[in-house]
Amino acid sequence: MSDRVGLVVCPEVRIYDHGPQHPLRPDRVLLTWDLIRAYGLDAASNVHVLRAEPAADDVIGLVHTPQFIDATRRAGQGEEGDFSRFGYGPGDNPIFPRMHEAGALVVGASVAAARAVWEEGFDHAFSAAGGLHHAMPARASGFCVYDDPAVAIAWLLGRGAGRVAYVDVDVHHGDGPQAIFYAEPRVLTVSIHESGEYLFPGTGFPEERGAGAAEGTKVNVPLPPGTGDAAWLAAFREVVPARVREFRPDVLVTQLGCDTHATDPLAHLRLTTGAYREAAKILHALAHEAAGGRWVATGGGGYQWARVVPRAWTIYFAEMAGALDGLPDELPEGWIEEAEFRLRGPVPTTLSEEPAP
Ligand SMILES: [Zn+2]
Repeated sequence: MSDRVGLVVCPEVRIYDHGPQHPLRPDRVLLTWDLIRAYGLDAASNVHVLRAEPAADDVIGLVHTPQFIDATRRAGQGEEGDFSRFGYGPGDNPIFPRMHEAGALVVGASVAAARAVWEEGFDHAFSAAGGLHHAMPARASGFCVYDDPAVAIAWLLGRGAGRVAYVDVDVHHGDGPQAIFYAEPRVLTVSIHESGEYLFPGTGFPEERGAGAAEGTKVNVPLPPGTGDAAWLAAFREVVPARVREFRPDVLVTQLGCDTHATDPLAHLRLTTGAYREAAKILHALAHEAAGGRWVATGGGGYQWARVVPRAWTIYFAEMAGALDGLPDELPEGWIEEAEFRLRGPVPTTLSEEPAP
């Protein structure tokens, strides 16, 4: 019996937009849904498209302070003032219109994925709009307004999940969920990333292991710049399955950032889509083996918004839907045209690619 899989789609998320100069482009999520559709993955008999509503303040409040939510709302409505103590201002987190509504929708989408898996009988669910893992309880950070992975985890704990395992493959350390659950023994966080010696947010070292009863439940694998597919997969295989199995979670939550790619403009690892294919297979098998098949996945970083992100997340979703092996390597013509029109430049025409030199 094939898995029952949910795909959370909410085009309104295009309002999560810091402006044309900002590296985090909403197009990356929109083009991902377009590619999944172009491949017909959303029409598969075991795939259900799920809608999402903006999360209410009490849900966002599972992680974030009322003062921060209020400030985010006021700043996004254009209120004058200094919001720098909430992380807003020039640089990574410029204020943009409807910032609260945008952040609340991203949270709503990740919670919709968690609800589908925990309460609606889905095995797996994917929200490409999510993965904003740098936001802290009282501060925006690293392009992230509200920390949707952390809220989804807190929501699961609130709905009776005994243990949740969080695996973060973004090139940047998953500092938000780690900090938010640092003293929470019911949450395992495993982050594999480029070392904080070289990259934002500058944390994520092995000695960050959790506090109190939670000591040992926070795991970090920092990697040197230039790390490619083989070394990354070796480290991933060495750490992730064993730690998740040992933790025996009720749900596996994964952040699938692909700014690890060799061509990503913001970081220095050298992965290719070949590594994403392998990671997808390992995580899928692990979800079934260690978490009763319950797998909630979000997007994350990825700044080659047309050339890499849609292909990477389509690979992950196709694996979730049990369709990866049969998926044509050649991308659908219509999608290539659309992506090249938006990018005003060429995009790769296959899912696979040569290993990075
Ligand atoms: Zn990132």
